[in-house]
Amino acid sequence: MAGKSPTEKKELVADWPALTRTFIQPESDAAKSTLIKYMEQILFGLQDFLKTHVGFTEAISLKHLADRFTNSLISQNPDKKLADVITDLIEDIAPHAVNVASPYFVGHMTSAIPFFMVHLKTIVAALNQNLVKIETSKVVSVVEKQVLAKIHRLIYQQSDAFYKEHIQSTYTTLGCFTENGTLSNLTALWVARNALLSPKTGFEGVEKEGLKAAYDAYGIHRCVLLVSKRGHYSLNKAGGLLGLGNRNIIAVDVDANNRIDLVKLEETIRTLLKGPRKAAVLAVIGIAGTTETGSVDPLREMAGICGEHNIHFHVDAAWGGPTLMSEKYRHLLSGIEHADSVTIDGHKQFYMPMSSGMVYFKDPAIMDNIIYHANYVNRPGSVDLGIKSPSGSREANSLILDSALKIMGSRGYALLIDHGIETARKFADEIENRKDFQLITSPELNILTYRFCPFDLQEKLAGSDDRQRVRINETLNDINRQIQRRQREAGKSFVSRTTLDIKDFPGQHIVVLRTVIMNPMTTIDILCEILNEQEEIYKTMIRDGF
Ligand SMILES: *Cc1c(COP(=O)(O)O)cnc(C)c1O
Repeated sequence: MAGKSPTEKKELVADWPALTRTFIQPESDAAKSTLIKYMEQILFGLQDFLKTHVGFTEAISLKHLADRFTNSLISQNPDKKLADVITDLIEDIAPHAVNVASPYFVGHMTSAIPFFMVHLKTIVAALNQNLVKIETSKVVSVVEKQVLAKIHRLIYQQSDAFYKEHIQSTYTTLGCFTENGTLSNLTALWVARNALLSPKTGFEGVEKEGLKAAYDAYGIHRCVLLVSKRGHYSLNKAGGLLGLGNRNIIAVDVDANNRIDLVKLEETIRTLLKGPRKAAVLAVIGIAGTTETGSVDPLREMAGICGEHNIHFHVDAAWGGPTLMSEKYRHLLSGIEHADSVTIDGHKQFYMPMSSGMVYFKDPAIMDNIIYHANYVNRPGSVDLGIKSPSGSREANSLILDSALKIMGSRGYALLIDHGIETARKFADEIENRKDFQLITSPELNILTYRFCPFDLQEKLAGSDDRQRVRINETLNDINRQIQRRQREAGKSFVSRTTLDIKDFPGQHIVVLRTVIMNPMTTIDILCEILNEQEEIYKTMIRDGF
């Protein structure tokens, strides 16, 4: 450019030759090796930042970072080359992201993934298939149907003949891939809603006529969903999106083990079904691994109750579903085979990269309730997977799961599941053995909650009346909030925090620390270090005159 010395960097311009180069397969060895170098940078360049911090620290505050990202203008000419963009991402962005892969990061359901997942994700991007229709995916759609059948079989254990009939049938569907557990729950309840408020004489069905007409046609004034109060908030979103109103997602009380109270469930159903202004129970939802405590509802008994009243039984196994691969622990989910629908997340205990959800149905014809056709694609009787799906265009996550199942085998996954459950149990023992800690919910799967509770306060709690107890618990809530925050800040390890109402302290919200053990590199020694650090933090707090 005029006026610039030749040593200055050449300005990048958006021109046709440069653009076309980004679409052409590299032919020369030099171009190929450049691209390989970038992939190397991605695979190995990201590792270093992972060693510095674990959690969401305030070493550089979010506010400070936000101040650096306030430019809403798109530059007209290119700013950077790929190499520089990758370097920026690795050196400037990654260090301020969260190191979810650390074995000390045990606070959330997001964790390390096997390295081969990055390769598989790359293949999915490189192929760029669109599962909405066979014309953009061909064999990948039938691979998807196969892997759906594999997971369906894991849940429902139907006969060889059943899978032979349905695995590649173009008329029936065993389930579908979605973007996440939230959409899977929504899909299951969408199907259940349409099955319940289906077409009949003088009424063309809720999908077509809407809820007002449906309630009139069926003589009901509302539809409700029943789930324990440990239910995931995605169910409330589903209530909103499906027009039911999320006030009609009724939270049923839990027992001392955080499982739905069956007596209360039956009572609630009876009350709802009688009376002049009838309500319809659209579905009862059992949870196989609650997000907060990892508890599993009594699925078999719930299925029995639903069978009696002819209610759709959905199991939210977003978290716990893959436990079915463990011969040792699959019994924890027994009864799941009676569910009408089941949600499982791929990016949780299938260790897939973000994000992938799935929903399965016992009846291979039930998804006909949400069938949609378009003239240019998705014709009746085609393999087009977009016909029965909340999504339109969608990536080929099924290829990742199919490949991962081959690489791991169900035994490989079982090792991960068993490690999580057994490490969580050891951790629970350790917490119970330490005098300044209190186990709040023991692990059924691999999630547990506890709190720091100095021994002297434990003794005070035991000997106090209701009013004193409330005050002591408030102090403890404060202590635990502080410990969690200070530990996160220190940046070495991360546990999360939630509040629970627990039977011992009715009417009170108890702040608890929550750990999710899914990283196979998280050992009991690491968990002990985390407790040690919490003890040290408390000592500092006392010294600082907390
Ligand atoms: C994680 C989770 C969900 C929601 O899944 P997303 O993938 O985060 O949308 C739903 N239910 C339960 C029990 C979960 O643990």
